[in-house]
Amino acid sequence: MTDNREIPTPHIDEETRDYWDGASAGKLMVKKCRSCGAAHHYPRTICPHCGSDDTYYTESNGKGVIYSFSVMRRVQPNFAIAYVTVEDMEIKMMTNIINCDFDALEIGQAVKVTFVETQTAGVSVPMFEPA
Ligand SMILES: [Zn+2]
Repeated sequence: MTDNREIPTPHIDEETRDYWDGASAGKLMVKKCRSCGAAHHYPRTICPHCGSDDTYYTESNGKGVIYSFSVMRRVQPNFAIAYVTVEDMEIKMMTNIINCDFDALEIGQAVKVTFVETQTAGVSVPMFEPA
């Protein structure tokens, strides 16, 4: 099932503009660090692992597994909030799981990124759905 929630427009600033531009173009962009090699999320100019400012964006393949989730049943329409491990980047993202049967969601379930338009036409956010 697909919920029909209105998704708020994200706050976009210079530090996150390439991330949101990527999402609106159907790409999951992740920050990596040239100094220590690790990826991080949410995107920051300064690497949270080593403090270097030598960071850059790279595109993830968007494949992941559910690390943890919770279904919000006291609001209409219901929705599922989750932490997803994005496997190729070894990061976890707070996100929503959509296009799914909430009763069938499981920790460890394979999911893939999809992009959902927000209240602002042309601005999308990444979410995940069963793979
Ligand atoms: Zn680093």
